[in-house]
Amino acid sequence: MGREIGKIRNVSIIAHSGAGKTTLGEAILFNAGATERLGRVDDGTSVLDFEPEEIARKMSISASLHHYEWNRHHINLIDTPGFANFLTETRNALRVSGGAVVILSAISGVKIQTEKIWQFADEYEIPRIAFVNKMDRERASFLRAVDDMEKAFGARGIPIQLPIGAEEGFRGVVDLIEMKAYIYNGEGSFDIAEIPPEMMEDAESFRVRMVEAVAEGDDILLEKYLEGGELSREEILQGLRESVITNKFVPVLCGSALKNIGVKQLMDAINLYLPSPLDKGTVTGKDPATGEDKRREPSPDGPFSAFVFKTLSDPYAGKLSIFRVYSGTIKGDNHVLNTSKGAKERVGQLYILEGKKYRPVESLSAGDIGAAAKLKETATGDTLCDDHDPIVFPPLPPVSPVLSYAILPKTKADEDKVHGAIAKLIEEDPTLQFSRDEQTKEFIISGLGQVHLEVAVEKLKRKYGVEVDLKTPKVPYKETIRTTVKVQGKYKKQSGGRGQYGDTWLKLEPLPRGKGFEFVDEIVGGVVPKQFIPAVEKGIREAMEHGVLAGYPVVDVKVTLFDGSHHSVDSSELAFKIAASMGFRKGMAMAKPVLLEPIMAMEIIVPDENLGDVIGDLNSRRGKIQGVEPRANSQCIKALVPMAEVLTYANDLRSLTGGRGIFTMEFSHYEEVPTHLREKIISAAKEGK
Ligand code: GDP
Repeated sequence: MGREIGKIRNVSIIAHSGAGKTTLGEAILFNAGATERLGRVDDGTSVLDFEPEEIARKMSISASLHHYEWNRHHINLIDTPGFANFLTETRNALRVSGGAVVILSAISGVKIQTEKIWQFADEYEIPRIAFVNKMDRERASFLRAVDDMEKAFGARGIPIQLPIGAEEGFRGVVDLIEMKAYIYNGEGSFDIAEIPPEMMEDAESFRVRMVEAVAEGDDILLEKYLEGGELSREEILQGLRESVITNKFVPVLCGSALKNIGVKQLMDAINLYLPSPLDKGTVTGKDPATGEDKRREPSPDGPFSAFVFKTLSDPYAGKLSIFRVYSGTIKGDNHVLNTSKGAKERVGQLYILEGKKYRPVESLSAGDIGAAAKLKETATGDTLCDDHDPIVFPPLPPVSPVLSYAILPKTKADEDKVHGAIAKLIEEDPTLQFSRDEQTKEFIISGLGQVHLEVAVEKLKRKYGVEVDLKTPKVPYKETIRTTVKVQGKYKKQSGGRGQYGDTWLKLEPLPRGKGFEFVDEIVGGVVPKQFIPAVEKGIREAMEHGVLAGYPVVDVKVTLFDGSHHSVDSSELAFKIAASMGFRKGMAMAKPVLLEPIMAMEIIVPDENLGDVIGDLNSRRGKIQGVEPRANSQCIKALVPMAEVLTYANDLRSLTGGRGIFTMEFSHYEEVPTHLREKIISAAKEGK
């Protein structure tokens, strides 16, 4: 949009749920004049948390974007979710951010989810500044929050402010660089004053700590400092900026988002210390044709490239692809190449986002975050670029779902619409998955946790008018045999009119696990005529669809047709099919049939202190531990566990580990169900009919 790229900041606000991200975002937008009134989470008037599912839960579910101007800088602000089920949105937001504001609660410090978010920020090397929020609350403690951050993340926190007053009496901050006090007097305005005398000693010692930290990061500054020279204001500011951008330490500020105290100083700090797209420098992708590295300069000139990090799906306006531009400029009514899909896309109107509203713009340039409507092929994680000079940026890492439910549409009308509606939800949220279990015939929705799937159900209803219930999915059991038998299958009907005659001798043998079905024809001398043999195989296959124990499909069986007889007039395909089918069922009942259950291969990462509990719990679920490997502060357990025991594991692991455990699982193989559980499964299956 033709703004100076060095004055752009792309900033995510990150923290656990309830730390005050949205409240802070609202205060920032209000202070900058980007919104006319101060939106409040508690009244449901936030412009950042505007989806009904968010308002109802007072919790951000998806990243939301806004922008503001502050001191001639242009800031794109991303309010991110902090709740475990929705952290993929947070990770994607960080991917396109230049920097982040980490909120620490002055009451509860750092919570578990913040650890994960911090790891994402580490992964993308995102420079951070910290804001200790809720200084106005009872038992608020600034230094405890700083200490918490250092312990939890191994990060170095350097206060560049101190709070003035505490709890009810919290009224402003001391700026350790300017050595001034900012005393707030309501509605976000403040007076500049001298540091209160009783705070002077603390202010001086924290200032020394800050100046030392700055000097340590730069040889020239260090020399000057050690030789007894004070650093100038400019040197401190410059040194702080360098230290933040190179992730040497995290400057810590404080305030109250709710009372709008200290927020303006935080806005100054965002401009001063967080990087612009220029500081981030060139970005690297690949040439889609050769696979070789390709670079892009953060400049509005040069070939256009952008990364789509989010998709919105609006039942009326359609699809909106939200992207960060890395190089070049794109104008509306244009064509771009989607290199991830190998497809050309027509770009119509371009927008920038303001909470739930979109504002049309003519163009978007390097450093900007904006959106285009109705790109047909484009999905979250794709690269868009100039088709004369293609580049593809690394895709987003895959996310594997941890919890599945069967979806039961409430009415026929819901059933007709559910597929299309879920497809739209997945467009917005690729961490949702939808599939049909061929065996159980259930439609299965999978996601990252209980709340994630509940929110999906609510959105189906609100946005697409589709009502469904969630139900624990059925386990796709199978059946097989354990011994070899020989059996006759004969079908004879010879009363009145044309009769039916088919006669087969079958041998049923068990096959190793996973081998499926094998049919062998050993007929000699045409006792079963050639033309009826396919009917015999078909009869067996049909019989195998429903085993004799509980009606589950039969697998891992070899059937040999070795003898039989026929009748020159009455034999028919149908007669042989029925005969073989009867023979198979009779034989299966004789061949010691057993139930098979799916076994999942799981990898569970838990903090050291939960290891014993989690392993104990896995044992009680008939799990077989394959190994335990240490990771940083945590342990990775590999185990094989029956699917029937882990249908709601996402919720169970959450309560076992206070939300710190994570896991993945995938189907591994089938195993025999232990005898003591067999009868229960069989009678449940019969009841279900
Ligand atoms: P988020 O989940 O991190 O976005 O947190 P919210 O912004 O939704 O805030 C969670 C709750 O904390 C809300 O009830 C806010 O009103 C409250 N809150 C946020 N910031 C402050 C603050 O500075 N002081 C006090 N007393 N409450 C706050």
